[in-house]
Amino acid sequence: MPTTKPRILTGDTPTHTGLHLGHYVGSLENRLRLQDEYDCYFLIANVHAFTTLAEKPADIRANTLGIVKDWLAVGLDPQRSTFVLQSEIPAIAELTFLFAMLIPFNKVMRNPTLKTEIESKGLGDTYPFGFPMYAVGQCADILTFRPDLVPVGEDQEAHIEMCRDVALKFNQLYCGVGNRVPAEEHHKQGGVFPIPRAKVGRVGRLVGLDGKNKMSKSLGNAIFLYDSEKDVQKKINKIVTGRATATSPLADDNPLAQYIDVFLPRERAEQIKADYASGKEVMDGHIKAEVGAAINTLLAPMRERRARLEEPPQPGKPGGEEMVLGVIREGIKKANAQAEETLALAKKAMGLEFVNRTLH
Ligand code: ATP
Ligand code: MG
Repeated sequence: MPTTKPRILTGDTPTHTGLHLGHYVGSLENRLRLQDEYDCYFLIANVHAFTTLAEKPADIRANTLGIVKDWLAVGLDPQRSTFVLQSEIPAIAELTFLFAMLIPFNKVMRNPTLKTEIESKGLGDTYPFGFPMYAVGQCADILTFRPDLVPVGEDQEAHIEMCRDVALKFNQLYCGVGNRVPAEEHHKQGGVFPIPRAKVGRVGRLVGLDGKNKMSKSLGNAIFLYDSEKDVQKKINKIVTGRATATSPLADDNPLAQYIDVFLPRERAEQIKADYASGKEVMDGHIKAEVGAAINTLLAPMRERRARLEEPPQPGKPGGEEMVLGVIREGIKKANAQAEETLALAKKAMGLEFVNRTLH
């Protein structure tokens, strides 16, 4: 059924078997909230996972299923939203190549998100050509679905900016949209692509347990949504507060300080932080127990749903994986219908409409 709702595209890369608290507060909360108001496309960037895990295709496959399980566990609903498996949407790969002509090479290499990733993931100078290429690919992931809004964490803002530049340039070069037309008017003025906006979540950057990097699937500094109660508490207990005594203040940029703010009720968080600042004696262990318990309350229903999706098949009862594969197959169909429409419009604008093609 065609819909007139505004559209969302966002997604995750399957570099791990599950999602973490940073995803939840940075993007998933927004996805859940906006699922009814918007026509949502959620993409699993499984091709992009090969930028850092090319030698581990079996892991990428398992991670892909894991991410879909977490989406379902969190409450994303494949009946209301479309789950998109990147590797099965050929239009994305085709648009990636075409968009690569619209972005100066040096601009890609100066992209701050790529620079941070190269450093934090220790990629040195041996990363594959495909690594910086993923930033261009992400423009195609997004624009293929012609969304209005892209719910992401702060680290993705540079990518969304690049995506907006590509869309503006495409509309100006191939659709006759004037250089002075403001971004929000592009689509109305005949541009193939609406210019999408980033929507950063309640917490743009949840710091990792290491207190240095953002919480990240690949850096060993994350609390995963499916972590057991015990593991969550253990991970919180290991946070180094760096305080000399029980009356020294807690630094604002300490992970515990941020988690107090993010996961405890506001008044309680303010009270704890005032206690820390005033030089009152505060037992870090008690605060860690309180934060751990709050996180565990949040995660309990997700953990339970995820566990059910991990159940193996029984006689007469298919396992969770069957259901996940069904969701993926259904999503591919819906996504390709949309993606092929966009590709046809883009190719027409570029004078590349030599044949009508249909995907079988
Ligand atoms: P990787 O380490 O493999 O890059 P990741 O943890 O950064 O994994 P992504 O799949 O790259 O996760 O990101 C998915 C989405 O979650 C993006 O919109 C990203 O901005 C958001 N996100 C990831 N980590 C955080 C975080 N710590 N705080 C807020 N948002 C986050
Ligand atoms: Mg990332």
